[in-house]
Amino acid sequence: MGQTLAGRVAVVTGGASGIGRSCALRLAQDGARVAVLDLNAAHAGDVAAEIQAEGGTAHAVGVDVADRASVDRALAEVRKHLGPIAILVNSAGKTAHDSFLDISLELWTSVLTVNLTGTFHCCQAAVPDMIEAGWGRIVNISSSSAHSGVPYMTHYVASKAGVIGLTKSLALELGPSGITVNTIPPGFIDTPMLRTAQAGFLDTPTEKVIGQTPVRRAGRPEDISAACAFLVSEDAGYITGQVIGVNGGRNT
Ligand code: NAP
Repeated sequence: MGQTLAGRVAVVTGGASGIGRSCALRLAQDGARVAVLDLNAAHAGDVAAEIQAEGGTAHAVGVDVADRASVDRALAEVRKHLGPIAILVNSAGKTAHDSFLDISLELWTSVLTVNLTGTFHCCQAAVPDMIEAGWGRIVNISSSSAHSGVPYMTHYVASKAGVIGLTKSLALELGPSGITVNTIPPGFIDTPMLRTAQAGFLDTPTEKVIGQTPVRRAGRPEDISAACAFLVSEDAGYITGQVIGVNGGRNT
């Protein structure tokens, strides 16, 4: 891609691990100055160091996307160190697996608060910079589970379906300001979150899932970051409000 994002500041939440880490590395390779935001500040620092070692510019900030004050503090730090925010990738997320009747209001709220309200907080806190610049790109990482539904994951799936609705409505509202908003719902991407799920509640062996996947392999974080890099590029300026599935053909 070259330095297509040179001069842009990109914020990637959940940037310490899996899909977010891959997006942070890729956007830095494409020339963006990247803020790596994560609950795990130490691992976010490792990713920022990796970007710097490759010659890029990065800054790590610890954040809890569920907490608006924490998001506001983190974005103020990003502006101070890197400049106004042009690109936002919301990848921070929390998975959960519980029988519907066992989901307490507290658990329901905690999943919705990280996955959906966290996306709301980060969008609302970053968008003023984009409006000011007359240019912006937002990519929200939702989930293919919102297409299919998944038993024992009503809280998680509802939160991700909410992210899709938020994306579509925000795209309509922000289009006239030069800002695009899209969502990538990943499907079966080999990350720490997926491995934890497989070690715990996912009872389908990897080989079986691969056999049911048209392209006959598991997804890699790089599959998502490649789509993300395109969606935040200048070339994708006429794409907004879209749900861009990256799932090996498992959902069409
Ligand atoms: P991951 O490797 O676990 O990365 C998620 C990152 O988000 C972790 O570093 C995590 O930190 C961080 N995080 C969690 N809660 C946070 C909070 N409140 N504030 C800030 N950061 C927080 O998982 P992943 O697979 O890359 O997932 C990335 C996104 O893709 C998630 O939104 C997930 O729901 C979605 N997704 C993934 C798949 C898949 O197949 N992997 C499929 C569909 C959707 P800690 O580790 O400290 O909690």
